Amino acid sequence: MDTMPFTELGLPAPLLEAIEELGYERPSAIQAMAIPVALAGHDLVGLSQTGSGKTAAFVLPALSKIDINRRKPQVLILCPTRELAIQVCEDVHRLGSKLPKLHAVPVYGGAPIGRQFRALEDGAHLIVGTPGRLLDHMRRGSFNPSEIKVTILDEADRMLDMGFREEMEEMLAQLPESRQTMFFSATMNRGVEGLIKRFGKNVQMLQIERKALTVESVEQRHYEVRERSKVEVLCRLLDLEDPRLAIVFCNTKKAVDECTEALLARGYPADRLHGDVTQQMRERVLQRFREGKVEVLVATDVAARGIDIEEIDIVFNYDVPQDPEDYVHRIGRTGRAGRSGRAITFVFGRDLYRLQNIERTIRQKITRHRVPSQEEVEDRRADSLYDSVRDRLEAGSFQGHETHIERLLDQGHTATDIAGALFTLLREATSTKGQSIAEDTTPGAGSKFDRSDSQPHRPDRSAERSSSYAGEMAKLFINLGKTHGINAKDLVGMLYREGSVPDGTLGHIKLFPRHTIVEVPEECVEKTLRALAKAKLRGKPFRINRDKQP
Ligand code: AMP
Repeated sequence: MDTMPFTELGLPAPLLEAIEELGYERPSAIQAMAIPVALAGHDLVGLSQTGSGKTAAFVLPALSKIDINRRKPQVLILCPTRELAIQVCEDVHRLGSKLPKLHAVPVYGGAPIGRQFRALEDGAHLIVGTPGRLLDHMRRGSFNPSEIKVTILDEADRMLDMGFREEMEEMLAQLPESRQTMFFSATMNRGVEGLIKRFGKNVQMLQIERKALTVESVEQRHYEVRERSKVEVLCRLLDLEDPRLAIVFCNTKKAVDECTEALLARGYPADRLHGDVTQQMRERVLQRFREGKVEVLVATDVAARGIDIEEIDIVFNYDVPQDPEDYVHRIGRTGRAGRSGRAITFVFGRDLYRLQNIERTIRQKITRHRVPSQEEVEDRRADSLYDSVRDRLEAGSFQGHETHIERLLDQGHTATDIAGALFTLLREATSTKGQSIAEDTTPGAGSKFDRSDSQPHRPDRSAERSSSYAGEMAKLFINLGKTHGINAKDLVGMLYREGSVPDGTLGHIKLFPRHTIVEVPEECVEKTLRALAKAKLRGKPFRINRDKQP
């Protein structure tokens, strides 16, 4: 998939600088489509999912249109939930970090309105908020929309699902006629169409074309790994799987640099490829990779394009790719020419959503495996030392040390002791120092691979809990279960993404035929119940409350 670089989209320099600093190497498909259209001032509809990079697709052009010297609201972004509003506002700050005087304010229900009054009075350029609270401010006069140039409806379908139609309509009707409107939605339905018809002008429809993509000859798994444990888990898997050649894909140049440095520091023959690597250097790296002098190549998607090397045993997705199509391109580099390839993806928290998206696209399951323990890695290292020593003995190529051996025997050491000492020395010389990680304390972690486990949280076995959270847990009841087609993955995605459950703290999930019990930290129960009051699972509304059983 060839997209133009960020520098050719027509974005102003301070935004390009921020993008560079964030390490984004190239626009995602929706960004490449939407940014030029939005910069040209057209209304548009972007049909895209979370994880596609849609936020930057509207935030970047919106920021380009702000006159920083006018301290009046010029951009309005509507979001369905408080969490999303906060997240979008964080993205605005990150992408606008080189616009020093930029003032963006999140406005949502459930927070003290007084503080929001002050923030708005301070002269916000951009406001992100939920429809109810925004309308409240508009009615009270604390938000004056007369200079709004750009309005964005983020997750328009969800805002309608959540019953915000009237608030949205009332608000949109009061915005200046001349404004530009961008609609973003995961799905297209009557309701969204109605909004577009009423509030859009010559709207351009942008949709990422999805080809049917399959990758059958590759064994695909995922591991739940926190960001800070990724290097350690990568090293453990490299030791256990022992690939001759492996590629590690990261989403940003920064991640490529950090991962490569960490691997080199631990003694792995690794090198990197990304957009800042010169052509000459690139050739050299690829040559060394082909010859096996570099065994682990860490790369971004763009940099890896065009690499034509047959014997890649494993592709690691150190970060879940932006786009399902990238996933297919990445893992298509292994399992070529009749070889059995392996693809390993690191996933955590919100990434599960993107993983599901990928599974839907490739129509295949990417099974979950448990992070191997340090002991397993040690056992494997000991086994391979044994293999090498035995091979040497069988090949007869160990002569030339007779005098030293004689001397040790003369000093009274037995042959077994000498061999033991040599094994120990060899192990010390070849082993890299492992680290304990949060994943090690997870009950069930460290057992041998469970290749049949396809659920991120095995729902039917209460012995397992993937959370490393040590605080008090509470049980929540949901009135949907297996017979409603609900699975644990949907629930995990929803609870982390919409239900404000902090990453990594989810406890057991038990699916019953007609209901489900999930464990969440006690401290977030109220927030989660509020956040999910109007949510849907597989398109179905549901009831969620504290479990009444003791
Ligand atoms: P979104 O779909 O907007 O929720 O974005 C998903 C994630 O992708 C966010 O964490 C962004 O920081 C990240 N992201 C957005 N655009 C890019 C890009 N062009 N390259 C790499 N990461 C990106």
